[in-house]
Amino acid sequence: MLELPILTQTFERDTIIELSSPAIPERKLYVETYGCQMNVNDSEIVMGVMNKSGYTITNKPDDADVILLNTCAVRDNAEKKIHERLDHLKYYKKRNRDLVVGVLGCMAERLRGDLLEKKLVDVVVGPDEYRSVPELISRAFTGEKGIAVKLSRVETYDDILPLRTDGIAAWVSIMRGCDKFCTFCVVPFTRGRERSRALSSVVDELKILRDSGFKETTLLGQNVNSYRDEQSSKDFADLLAACARAVPEMRIRYTTSHPQDMSDKLIETQAEFENICNYIHLPVQSGSNRILKLMNRTYTIEHYLERINTIRELIPNCAITTDIIVGFPTETDADNTATMELMREVQYDGAYMYNYSPREKTKAWKMGDDVPNEVKTERLSAIIEQQRIISGELNQKTLGTIEKVLVEGASKKNQTEWQGRTDSNKIVIFPHNEHGGYIVGDVISVKINRANSATLFGDIVE
Ligand code: SF4
Repeated sequence: MLELPILTQTFERDTIIELSSPAIPERKLYVETYGCQMNVNDSEIVMGVMNKSGYTITNKPDDADVILLNTCAVRDNAEKKIHERLDHLKYYKKRNRDLVVGVLGCMAERLRGDLLEKKLVDVVVGPDEYRSVPELISRAFTGEKGIAVKLSRVETYDDILPLRTDGIAAWVSIMRGCDKFCTFCVVPFTRGRERSRALSSVVDELKILRDSGFKETTLLGQNVNSYRDEQSSKDFADLLAACARAVPEMRIRYTTSHPQDMSDKLIETQAEFENICNYIHLPVQSGSNRILKLMNRTYTIEHYLERINTIRELIPNCAITTDIIVGFPTETDADNTATMELMREVQYDGAYMYNYSPREKTKAWKMGDDVPNEVKTERLSAIIEQQRIISGELNQKTLGTIEKVLVEGASKKNQTEWQGRTDSNKIVIFPHNEHGGYIVGDVISVKINRANSATLFGDIVE
C-alpha cells in the first residue's frame, strides 16, 4: 500500500486542450485528488478519458461544469475530509444548478450507493470503472444519477494515456489491486485483485514521457514486487531493467515494495543501473513479530532485517524509508518498544507514521480497537520524535558531500532559492539568480553545507 500523507492535487493553470469533436459543447472538468500517488495517476487517467470525450480541464472549481473528487478510504480521517469537502461543494451547486458532482476512487467503492443518498452527489465511480465516467456524467446532465463500482480482474487502463499537467516527474501505474490482505487494509476490497500491465506498454509510456520532457518516473503499484507480465512471464526486476535500458536519461523510482517479495534479483537490478534511484520504500508496519503476525504481513523482523542488510550490501548509499502503524489491536508497550528499537537499528532516512484506524470489512476490524487514543498518540509522538532525530543525524552526514540534484523550481518558502531532489529522494535547497545557468529539469551538482531532519541546503558547484 502506498502510505503517503493525504494530499490534495489541484492544477497549476488552466490546461486548454483542443476538443476532439466540435459537435460536443465545451464543458470544463475540475478534479481534486486525495490519498496516495496511485490516485494521482488515476485522476490523470480519468482526465485522459474525459478529454477524449471533449472536456477541457480547469483548475478553478468556480468555472467547472463537472467537479470530481478522487477519494481515499485507507483511514477514517481521509473519509471525514471528503464528507467535509462535499459539504463545501454545496456552495458551487447553489451558484450553478447544472453542476455535476462525482465521487471516484476507494471511498466510492467502499460506500457505493450510500454516497448517492447525498443530494449533491450525481455520480459514484470505483477505481476499475473509469472508462464509464463520460457516459455517467452525460446522463447526470439530464438529471439521472449514476453508479459504477464493479471491480475487475483484468482492467489495467493499458491503452489510456494519462493526461498529465506540466512537470518533470511522472507517476506510472504498472499494476492494480492487491492480493496480500493485510488484516488492517481496505485496499484489496476497494481496488480488487492484483493484475499487471504488459511490460511493453509500460516501456512505451516511459518513452512518451521522456519525449515530452519528463525527467523522472515512479513506477507504481500496491505491491510492485509481485508485478508479472503474464504473456512473457517477466517479473518486476525484468520490467525495471527494461525501463532503465529504454530511457537511460530518466531517473526511475518505484513504490511500494512488500518485504516478503523483495527479491535478490530486484536489488541486484537496482544496483546495476545508474538511472534507477538509490531509494527504497520498504514498509515494515511494526517491529514486533507478534503484531506482524496479527497484521498478516507474512514476514518476520528477522527476514525484514536480512532484506535491509542485502540492500545495504548491494547498494551502499541507498536511502530507505518505511511506514509504521501505531496502536494496532492488542499492541503493548513492549511491542511499541520493539518498533522503536527496529527504527534505531535500521536507521531509516524517513518514515510515514500513523495511528491505527479500524476499517470495516477488514479482519482487524473484528479484533476491536483496544489501544486507547491517548496511548496511541503518546506512542506516535515518541516514534515521530525518534525518527526526526535519526533523519537529522543521517542528513548531517551529507555535509561537505556533492550531490547530483534534479532541479524542480522555486522553493516553496523563499523565491530567491530553488529546490531539487537527490537520487536518494532528499530535498535540497540552493540559492538562485537568473544567471544561474540551469533550468527546471537539469541535473546540477550541489555541495551540502547545512541540513536539518527534513532538508539539505547547499551551493551549486561546477
Ligand atoms: S493489503 Fe497489505 S500489501 Fe496490499 S495494499 Fe494493503 S497494506 Fe499494502
